[in-house]
Amino acid sequence: MISRISLRYFSFILFFGGIGFSLPVFPEEQVSVDELLNLSSQYLNTAPVKSISTLAKLKVLQPTFNEKQRERYYFISAISLGFIGKHRERVELVESFIDKVNDPELRAKFFYQLSDGYTHLGEYEKALVAMNQSIVMLPKLIELGSKVTTLQAAITLFSSLLAYDEAMVHADRMYALESDVVNSLSKCYGLANRIEIYFLSGNHQKTRSLLPEAIQSCNASNRQVVSLLVKAIVAIDLIETENDERNVDNGLSLLYEYSKTNQTSEYVTLLEEVIARSYLKNGNLKQAERYGMRAYQHAKSEDIVRSLEKTSETMAAIKRAQGQLDSALEYYDINLALKKKVLNDQLQKNLAYQRVKFDTQDKANQLALLEQKNKNLTIEKALQQGKNQNLLLLMTLGLILLAILGAWLVKTLQQKNIFRTSSQVDGLTQVSNRSHFITCATQSFKNAENRVSIVLFDMDSFKNINDTFGHAVGDWVLKTVCDTVKTQLRKADALGRLGGEEFAICLPNFTEEEAQALAERCRAAIAAIDTNPSGFSFVITASFGVATRGMRGQYSFEETLAAADKALYFAKNEGRNRVSLYQ
Ligand code: GH3
Ligand code: MG
Ligand code: MG
Repeated sequence: MISRISLRYFSFILFFGGIGFSLPVFPEEQVSVDELLNLSSQYLNTAPVKSISTLAKLKVLQPTFNEKQRERYYFISAISLGFIGKHRERVELVESFIDKVNDPELRAKFFYQLSDGYTHLGEYEKALVAMNQSIVMLPKLIELGSKVTTLQAAITLFSSLLAYDEAMVHADRMYALESDVVNSLSKCYGLANRIEIYFLSGNHQKTRSLLPEAIQSCNASNRQVVSLLVKAIVAIDLIETENDERNVDNGLSLLYEYSKTNQTSEYVTLLEEVIARSYLKNGNLKQAERYGMRAYQHAKSEDIVRSLEKTSETMAAIKRAQGQLDSALEYYDINLALKKKVLNDQLQKNLAYQRVKFDTQDKANQLALLEQKNKNLTIEKALQQGKNQNLLLLMTLGLILLAILGAWLVKTLQQKNIFRTSSQVDGLTQVSNRSHFITCATQSFKNAENRVSIVLFDMDSFKNINDTFGHAVGDWVLKTVCDTVKTQLRKADALGRLGGEEFAICLPNFTEEEAQALAERCRAAIAAIDTNPSGFSFVITASFGVATRGMRGQYSFEETLAAADKALYFAKNEGRNRVSLYQ
């Protein structure tokens, strides 16, 4: 059967031939239900969209299902939802059912669905947790296909989190699954993964040295598609690093081979892209444009952000070399937007990885601590009974160990805290970021006993400051303004950066007059900031909007923020550097 496997940012189609995603086989007790199940699993291989109507028919028959049929129905539904991109529904479906699945093989496959679904949704922490749970089950798995799938999920996720060492550990495990079989399937997949990981982490020598063995075991186990794939990776690596026409020729003949097998692989896009860049380097602009455009169109139709980001940059460079500056600028604009997206996605991935990693470390540490405490207790008891003087020494050693472990735990917790805060605090100003501020303010509205005020402020003519003195001075202003405003606040008040040069303060249990007075103090303090430490002398001002709401649930935070925004707009309109109240 055909399975779509996505590596870090490539996806390719593998013929697993009955393994990997192979569906469990069940006795055909109730013909009509089983027939429909068989039909929908066939559709998954040929035309996934068609499986939807068959599954809809099955949904009605659910009350008649036996246990095995229900498991199979849920499994096929999860795969089908994945194929059509409905990942939210997919993970909800699996989450609702997975606890009822006892068979380890099937459970591991459900966890794969969960991990893959969460990865697509960008919820990497949950993806990691699901993947971990399936990895833990590896020793219980018997089918080679289940093992390969489970390990592949881990490799894909770790590579995408740039955790190459951990990805490699799992690629090695995959390679060793059938250590006694010459040219085995798991060796082919294990080597293909190793090659890709080396390629992604920039180890050119290792990428190339593994190629002959990979081709041999993949061809021998009838996985020519994977052979083609590893050849493409090595070809891309060679074209990228060595300016030799023969490498480009080799890349072109691989493209030809791909066109025969008609595989939609992201490697096709990357091959075309690297060939385009090589032509550009050698001044052959016509060929550069031809392959660059093909790569860009491919990336667009596959809708993979990472390759679109790469190919749009190449197209911009080609258009620039051709002197078509308007067109080049358009590609640069597209590229810039995509770069931001890629960076943001990578940041989320890194944070998720660190958090989960620290959680696992925590658990390991806590277990070790507990164990050591227990040992100490036993020793202590023995000592009390005066059995052995040597125990005193052991006890001292145990205490030292305990202290070391304790210190390690504190350090880990501190580091964990840094990661937690970094997702709540705005890096430049060190006040709450938008999402954390919204969470805190919403909570204040829920907890407040009588009134809550929101003060919204926006720097005046801030663009002028950037334009006149430069961005670095603009940054200094934002930071200094926040430090200044902070000195005016109570402990319970929250200050957050809503975006750009706009900030909000949430003041629980404040009357309208008190909020207005505080806003006025902040305004005056900002206007009095001495800007000389920035290297320039100028005046900073900000405009304020204030809204106060009584409690008892009739007003939400959002409504109050909108009211403060209207007041702020009024303050700007009235000439800036002033406080205005929402009436
Ligand atoms: P107004 O008085 O109407 O608010 O005018 P303004 O110039 O303050 O408002 P506008 O929205 O036109 O410009 C805001 C500027 O703030 C544009 C943007 O470049 C700048 N900006 C946003 N975030 C940052 C940042 O983090 N650092 C710096 N230096 N500038 C920023
Ligand atoms: Mg402004
Ligand atoms: Mg603004």
